[in-house]
Amino acid sequence: MNSPVWHPFTQHALEPSMKRIVQTGGACLIDEDGSRILDAISSWWVITHGHRHPVIMRAIQAACETYDQIIFAEYTHEPAETLARGLVEVAPAGLTHVFYSDSGSTSVEVALKMALGFFHNSGAPRSRICVMEDGYHGDTIGTMSAGERGVFNAAYEPLLFGVDRLPFPVTGREQATFDAFERFCATGQVAALLIEPLVLGAGGMRVYPATIISELKRIAERHDVLMIADEVMTGWGRAGSLFACEQASVMPDILCTSKGLTGGSLPLAATLCTAEIFEAHLSADRRRTFFHSSSYTANPIACAAAVANLAVWKDEPVRERIGSLVGMQQERLARFQEDLRFASIRQAGTITALDLRVPAGGYLSDVGPRLRAFFRERNLLIRPLGNVIYLMPPYCVTAAELDRAYDAIDEAAAYFAAGRL
Ligand SMILES: *Cc1c(COP(=O)(O)O)cnc(C)c1O
Repeated sequence: MNSPVWHPFTQHALEPSMKRIVQTGGACLIDEDGSRILDAISSWWVITHGHRHPVIMRAIQAACETYDQIIFAEYTHEPAETLARGLVEVAPAGLTHVFYSDSGSTSVEVALKMALGFFHNSGAPRSRICVMEDGYHGDTIGTMSAGERGVFNAAYEPLLFGVDRLPFPVTGREQATFDAFERFCATGQVAALLIEPLVLGAGGMRVYPATIISELKRIAERHDVLMIADEVMTGWGRAGSLFACEQASVMPDILCTSKGLTGGSLPLAATLCTAEIFEAHLSADRRRTFFHSSSYTANPIACAAAVANLAVWKDEPVRERIGSLVGMQQERLARFQEDLRFASIRQAGTITALDLRVPAGGYLSDVGPRLRAFFRERNLLIRPLGNVIYLMPPYCVTAAELDRAYDAIDEAAAYFAAGRL
């Protein structure tokens, strides 16, 4: 039972020994005992269409016949070229260039470097990044700096850089968010505003309306501040539209995408930017080069998986599936609307969330792991963020599978009320 593996976000002293997953398919994981576990959080938000979508799996197999890793300086390859053209076509207008990396975190690091590089190369350097309270952008030092501070990054605090934080746009107090942004912009030091459009994911599935993004963009434009949309979670239909920015009719200057880019099959990320940002790095002077690379930039097999994902979006009724999932989620969430055991019933596209009312909330409150165990015993993969219970299923999930998840949430609240959880 002794394993050398150190798992992410796992307190090994408290966690029971882990079941092995031996196969995946549709909305389910199958474990070593043959149990079908409903993957109600899409394996940490990456699986969009469903596990092992045949079109994507076939594309990966075909790519393996031809490629492994290829250096991505001096040479290019077809999957990366096709994917970049495809991304520019479907992304918000004005995003004309595509920089590849390997994860959501690196796509945001790239975005921050592009923003600072833009101002540096333009001869009027700016060094501040503006973010939203409760944001999450990854686990590297730069993205932790931009994200909300707390128990997750307390040990690394001495290495994190300072950022300007906007209050979350609570309904009725939106003006405070805009005023704070105006104040930070007025310093002339803000290079970019980095936000998760519509939904703050790891920060507790906090939802805010699209109009906030449009107003923030207007303020940013007045001060020549770039807007970076971190669509790592919200992209690829999660928030209801292909990209969340579409709902605000906002064209960000930089857009980060990863998780659903390959349908969740392989790690890959892309940071898209405007021609203006690309051109600020274009020069006979080598010092203006965009100095960023990772060994596996634009891995051809991962790019082929992403090209196949684009084909799935084009050839299959993905938008209809998402529309029907949004409706199914809405119907099932409705039963909790008047339920006093829960607070803040909310939905953003395919994502639903509700807070179990508990005496002391917060991520480290015991209720999170206890809920997780409760769901695990019922073959449901649901990982509450503290007392925030959320569902983010693959788009192929069935009505019956969703019913099972919502019935378990109802039952969990009853157990909790009875002191049995
Ligand atoms: C998951 C996530 C990231 C980090 O992505 P990784 O692939 O885990 O590095 C960044 N931003 C947002 C909004 C995310 O949800």
